[in-house]
Amino acid sequence: MILDCAVIGGGPAGLNASLVLGRSRRKTVLFDDNMPRNAVTSESHGFMTRDGIDPQEMKRIAQEELRKYPNVAIEKQRVKNIDKAGGLFRIETEDGSFFSAKNVILATGFKEVLPEVKDVEQYYGTSLFSCPFCDGWELKDRPLAVISENPKAFHMAKVVFNWTEDLAVCTNGKQILSEAEKTLLETKGIKIYEQEIHALIGKNGQLEKIEFKDGSAILREGGFITPEWVQASTFGSLLGCKLNVQGGIESDSMGRTTIDGVYAAGDTLITGASQLIIAAAEGSRAAIGVNAALIEEKFKSPASALK
Ligand SMILES: Cc1cc2nc3c(=O)[nH]c(=O)nc-3n(C[C@H](O)[C@H](O)[C@H](O)COP(=O)(O)OP(=O)(O)OC[C@H]3O[C@@H](n4cnc5c(N)ncnc54)[C@H](O)[C@@H]3O)c2cc1C
Repeated sequence: MILDCAVIGGGPAGLNASLVLGRSRRKTVLFDDNMPRNAVTSESHGFMTRDGIDPQEMKRIAQEELRKYPNVAIEKQRVKNIDKAGGLFRIETEDGSFFSAKNVILATGFKEVLPEVKDVEQYYGTSLFSCPFCDGWELKDRPLAVISENPKAFHMAKVVFNWTEDLAVCTNGKQILSEAEKTLLETKGIKIYEQEIHALIGKNGQLEKIEFKDGSAILREGGFITPEWVQASTFGSLLGCKLNVQGGIESDSMGRTTIDGVYAAGDTLITGASQLIIAAAEGSRAAIGVNAALIEEKFKSPASALK
């Protein structure tokens, strides 16, 4: 069977794309190995009607909703390779199966490279986060830190200040702030610590203290980091799609990439706006883009128009 669309990645982007494709009667397979970056957290915020939901529960509901649409199947496994031959995409999965599809939606998300601070992963998703719009409310008015080794620290400090004025910026030994930036932050009462971090201290993911290598320490109850972002799967570049400066897949208002038949949605675009509701909307948009192409194909061909 030739699929109308293979959706790679079953986070909110891929799930919403599959929902719209299913409702459009398109033969679709959604491939997902369930390793999203938000697996570290048990609460997601800012999605209307779903504020505070466990992201795995949201996924379960979305998969359940897809069962209503018989033309959508879910393959709970990793895609190993995608190539194009004879006008069709060939998708190879980890168990050695092959699928053919007219179109592909890449919704594989990204992975974060956390700062090189010992045990930071123990706190990430519980008291340290990367998106103040997602988790700032829960940490409001508490003593927080921005832990960052890159120039995004300045912007993050200005944003987090919206939720707490008791803020420390810790650069872990890196000189990433200009003198002008430091002065501006200090005029707002934001403290700057440029010495190397020795350890994060706390229990069950709840940060309590940051210890520095010079022997000093500050009490902090949580904060934000500014990770680097890399593609979770590299199909975009393998298929020849143009990438933006952050390494995200470039796409237009219909989710179309620079390669015919390849669409992209969600975090894999790396636009800087990384949220469940945005990813879901982009998934819907890409599915509409696929539909538009399939409709055009049908009405262009005199043979199919006569059917
Ligand atoms: C700690 C943390 C807290 C967050 N909190 C919030 C919040 O409160 N509110 C909010 O709106 N957003 C939050 N986010 C951001 C949100 O999780 C992402 O923006 C959203 O999940 C992006 O959706 P996506 O579908 O693009 O990618 P993902 O959700 O990452 O899904 C991609 C899926 O593709 C799969 N995949 C990748 N490669 C392959 C392959 N080769 N084969 C098969 N499957 C593959 C992955 O396993 C994954 O299941 C948070 C993120 C983190 C890290």
